[in-house]
Amino acid sequence: MVKDAFDHVTHWVFDLDNTLYPPRARLFDQIEVRMTQYVMDALGVGQDEADRLRKLYWAQYGTTLAGLMREHDVDPAPYLTDVHDISLDHLEKDSGLAARISELPGQRIVYTNGTAPYAERVLEARGLSGLFDAIYGVEHARFLPKPERGAFEIVFERASVDPDQAAMFEDDPRNLQVPHDMGMKTVHVAPEPHEADHIHHHTDDLSAFLHLLT
Ligand SMILES: [Mg+2]
Repeated sequence: MVKDAFDHVTHWVFDLDNTLYPPRARLFDQIEVRMTQYVMDALGVGQDEADRLRKLYWAQYGTTLAGLMREHDVDPAPYLTDVHDISLDHLEKDSGLAARISELPGQRIVYTNGTAPYAERVLEARGLSGLFDAIYGVEHARFLPKPERGAFEIVFERASVDPDQAAMFEDDPRNLQVPHDMGMKTVHVAPEPHEADHIHHHTDDLSAFLHLLT
């Protein structure tokens, strides 16, 4: 039974984007447009080059921002405010998911490579406000992003997450490697499964999966 594998879990860590809302909301399409524009303005390059760098840095450093900071000394705070200034009109409240999350025993946190204020807005739009003990953004990890081990270490230390009693829910398989290595249960939340040794479970329906656990 899936439930047995989670009996010991008292810390529940959720990614935000494309995990606590379905990818069909396509918020990342909006964010990517703003990222490309920001790269164009910050580096003085054209759209094609900005798109290329955005994807390259995401692949190489985990996020576009991490590459911009590392290679171009870009100031993270104004970048993060700008790229997350998007419409949340496509998000719908999900009372079923809210109920499932509220039933999880122990500590529940959100950990996103976006910012905590952005996460608050998304949670509000999804009807998930008030269900989490804490919300951590990239700004809480000295702007170091998942999947870097140091980022997880900083956030889990601040949140007092004990990896041996924790589970991580994420849409990006890369961001489950370190949690797995630390001893956490890992759940890949995405339309399609991704076969990898560091992924314990996959679901395309977070509510249905959480329902199995309670
Ligand atoms: Mg995500």
